[in-house]
Amino acid sequence: MGLNQDLMRRRDAAVVRGIGHSTQVFAARARNAEIWDGEGKRYVDFAGGIAVLNTGHAHPKVLAAVREQMEQFTHTCFQVVLYEPYVRLAERLNALAPMTGTLKTALFTTGAEATENAIKIARAATGRPGVIAFTGGFHGRTALASALTGKVVPYKRGLGPALPDVWHVPFPTAQNGVTTEEALRYLNFIFTADADPSRIAAIIIEPIQGEGGFHACPPELMHGLRAVCDQHGIVLVADEVQTGFGRTGRMFAMEHYDVQADLICVAKSLAGGFPLSGVIGREAIMDAAGPGGLGGTYAGNPLACAAALAVLDVFEEEGLLARADAIGTRIKARLETMQRRNTLLPIDGIRGLGAMVAFDIVARRGGSEPDADATKRVIARACALGLIVLSCGTTANTIRILVPLTAEDDLVAEGLTLLEEALEEAA
Ligand code: PMP
Repeated sequence: MGLNQDLMRRRDAAVVRGIGHSTQVFAARARNAEIWDGEGKRYVDFAGGIAVLNTGHAHPKVLAAVREQMEQFTHTCFQVVLYEPYVRLAERLNALAPMTGTLKTALFTTGAEATENAIKIARAATGRPGVIAFTGGFHGRTALASALTGKVVPYKRGLGPALPDVWHVPFPTAQNGVTTEEALRYLNFIFTADADPSRIAAIIIEPIQGEGGFHACPPELMHGLRAVCDQHGIVLVADEVQTGFGRTGRMFAMEHYDVQADLICVAKSLAGGFPLSGVIGREAIMDAAGPGGLGGTYAGNPLACAAALAVLDVFEEEGLLARADAIGTRIKARLETMQRRNTLLPIDGIRGLGAMVAFDIVARRGGSEPDADATKRVIARACALGLIVLSCGTTANTIRILVPLTAEDDLVAEGLTLLEEALEEAA
């Protein structure tokens, strides 16, 4: 039995079934956009630990900052003994976030904690319970976060009663045929059938749905939501856990819209592989929760804060926002060439902002019927060839590319060649 096989056997015996895996690869070492397993096989990483590694694996600046912090102290709990890197990071995030007025930040650990806390903060600020989210949206796996998530399988089925006071509006995509106008009408149906707007604390939306299939929120919908929120005193929450930190060519995807959110959730690439999340928002809303109502033992861990401060420096020093646009342009051009090749699986719907790029695997050339089985085959073939890449989407036929923005052109090209081969072999 090989090392990987043996590790998998031990995993199956010791670890729960409920944690799924996109690959059977066990990492031994990783650098920038490459991973090696214990048998020495090398992989090009187009997954980035699900959008966490915009600055790549083990960026030297991030590692140096963490090492330096580690020599001082690793944990005090910010609620017990405070530390400057937390405050400095809050200052920098407040200065960067695309919201006018005085902003404040609270740091947590996971994306789900960020979305849950954003809702708690909105509830405290409005004194209302209700939340509106979108079908296909993903906001995490904890109890409230999975209630916000707009997908039953695998996130909710059999996992307990849904929390009350959460409603879902259909998210408009070309795939599901829902228009922005219809989405806004459904929102009104909720107001008339289920909950008066005066009971709604927050509307939460991803500017580009991540797990839901890399579908951008149409600008008219964001405008419509902002207008509804202004009319009824509802807090607009942008979940930028996946879109955040430069992926879309701007630090925040909300910068692509000419309306602002009231609160923004961040996590993933914020800290270059260290567990850190946050909610950034308007002071009057953020300060509504009383002392002790927010936080967590590890929330805003000092090592993760040091990593995040280094990530922000790396973005500036290496011009990673421009790099996101350049990488995205190259990827889309290559995908368009692949779309024209008859020997490959048919692909459709090449889309994305900056380097947040995806496409769909469809049953027939020129058609749009999703082919989830073929998508699974491509992911498996790619892995066998040495490329880690992820699927997503409500119909499980979207392939998303989340290569580190620090990856060199040659490596991005190599990954795309492997993807092309996988599309050919899986055809
Ligand atoms: N929101 C969005 C938009 C996400 O993509 C994710 C993770 N995929 C989460 C929230 C949850 O983050 P975590 O897994 O760190 O709890």
